Amino acid sequence: MISLKTEEEIEIQRESSLLVGKTLAEVARHIRPGIKTIELDRIAETFIKDNKAVPGFKGYGGFPGSLCISVNDQVVHGIPGTYELKDGDIVSIDCGVLKNGFYGDSAYTFEVGEVDADIKKLIKTTKESLYLAIEQAVEGNRTGDIGYAIQSYIEPFGYGIVRELVGHGVGRQLHEKPEVPNYGKRGSGVKLKSGMVLAIEPMINLGTRAVKQEADGWTIRTADGKPSAHFEHDVAIRNGKADMLSSFEMIETVLKSKNQ
Ligand code: MG
Ligand code: MG
Repeated sequence: MISLKTEEEIEIQRESSLLVGKTLAEVARHIRPGIKTIELDRIAETFIKDNKAVPGFKGYGGFPGSLCISVNDQVVHGIPGTYELKDGDIVSIDCGVLKNGFYGDSAYTFEVGEVDADIKKLIKTTKESLYLAIEQAVEGNRTGDIGYAIQSYIEPFGYGIVRELVGHGVGRQLHEKPEVPNYGKRGSGVKLKSGMVLAIEPMINLGTRAVKQEADGWTIRTADGKPSAHFEHDVAIRNGKADMLSSFEMIETVLKSKNQ
């Protein structure tokens, strides 16, 4: 069963998705060499609670953090801890909130200090693939059209697309149907309808697509130890068209002001 949202429900969910962007912007202010990932997690948790919402990931399947913080070769589901970010790291931060009964779920990959050009390009390309995917989130298309948009854009760069983890429906549950793979064939998969809300989230590796899971039961790393990038937006299909519920605008305003 795929849950279709009403116009009113989509507006409630938009508030949750925007709060994720605001939370990530608050976290972005504090990203610098020397900060521990657990400190970023606490900043996010406080901010979410101050905004009358509940951290969506904390306790989900037993996950201990409010954020998933994945550094360098960690792809997703990294557990916040005592690791101190250092110059040249990249850090993918995934955040979920539950507010008024609806989840928001969005992720952004940040650079810490000066990052190598090839890794900067991986980050930029991953983000570009997300926006190409969102263009395909229209009524009548299928999930395979979204996956195809990512795959056909990413693979010529020689990057690996993670297949073990996929995008998903999002709403009253953090993970709803349908699955939204980041690869696929045009015209295949689940047909998209107005009222669906999808979390689209390409996870792209600089090297091979193979990943492994850490002994902690959560952290996913690249098998070859090369870095990985992850961006995620919540997108409603509304009146047939893609309506982005989450936003990176607040994050990028912070990043610009930090670079001045
Ligand atoms: Mg997420
Ligand atoms: Mg997600």
